[in-house]
Amino acid sequence: MKKHNFSAGPCVLPQEVLQKASEAVLNFNNDNLSLLEISHRSKPFVDVMEKARALALELLGLEGKGYKALFLQGGASTQFLMVAQNLLEKRAAYLNTGTWSDKAIKEAAIFDDIHEVASSKSANFNYIPKEYDIPEDHDYFHCTSNNTIFGTQMKKFPKTKIPLVCDMSSDIFSRVLDFSQFDLIYAGAQKNMGPAGTTLVVIKEDILGKVSRKIPSMLDYKVHLSKGSMFNTPPVFAVYTSMLTMEWLKNLGGIKAIEKENEKKATLMYSEIDLNPLFKGYSAKEDRSNMNATFTLLNDDLKETFDTMWQDAGINGLNGHRSVGGYRASMYNALSLDSVKVLVEIMSELESKA
Ligand SMILES: *Cc1c(COP(=O)(O)O)cnc(C)c1O
Repeated sequence: MKKHNFSAGPCVLPQEVLQKASEAVLNFNNDNLSLLEISHRSKPFVDVMEKARALALELLGLEGKGYKALFLQGGASTQFLMVAQNLLEKRAAYLNTGTWSDKAIKEAAIFDDIHEVASSKSANFNYIPKEYDIPEDHDYFHCTSNNTIFGTQMKKFPKTKIPLVCDMSSDIFSRVLDFSQFDLIYAGAQKNMGPAGTTLVVIKEDILGKVSRKIPSMLDYKVHLSKGSMFNTPPVFAVYTSMLTMEWLKNLGGIKAIEKENEKKATLMYSEIDLNPLFKGYSAKEDRSNMNATFTLLNDDLKETFDTMWQDAGINGLNGHRSVGGYRASMYNALSLDSVKVLVEIMSELESKA
């Protein structure tokens, strides 16, 4: 039986997607060739890329609104520097809500001055700062919608006059938002969209072409856009599998439908964390992430027992990140409510034993 996979990333994918992806590795499109053997310029693969790009915009409700989607390489981490390369002329504003924001700031600082509008670093990122100003003369504002490591999630985004850039790596396609408030969204595929190896970038085209520096081709959004996300050989397997996951989501009813499931899972998880006296949630209640629930066991003496119990129940990937400790239950789109029920059951069983 498949494990209950609470891994933070790479992480759980829908079983039917894994099945279809594995079939394509052996025989793609009934052409008696593997997806991995054909030219990326062949019609069957160009169709895959175009479908993936279109599905991303469709799911986000951004068709016909001046946006384009790209599937790039180098992970979300390359977007930390690409964003700055392409958009930063004088100064940019960043909200620091965790390790990933911090890294994005470091990369952008290579190019020019960074204005950190607020940070929760001194509280080890257990909340999202809310009171801050975003100067109108800055080039853009960058934030991280979901802080995978600390288990916080932005519930609201500031209204900005300057372009709004968001790292949505760990909660893309998980909840309904007005995505047209963002000018650039990026997301590494391996948290909620597909396997590692590709990064979705959704850009409002009119924000580009405003910096004076020369941009290397591979780091230039305009180059990738002009080549239909095929400037060089794309990561064909990662794009294909991401396309399958987006199709799966569309067939379920899109973001609206999955958001309901995600809320059920998170409600169940957090109510156990709050009601069970053996556990304590890590992040501020109003900022809790519906994707990554971080919590600790108050009595360390129970750790061995608890760890054995969840492992025996076929649960995988529950250990917290080293910078937080404790536990982290990642509940991405493809994780079923049943998996959360299994975990919650074990937590309450531990309570009755203790
Ligand atoms: C995982 C993660 C990243 C890093 O992604 P890579 O694809 O490994 O570079 C960046 N931002 C967030 C929010 C993440 O969760």
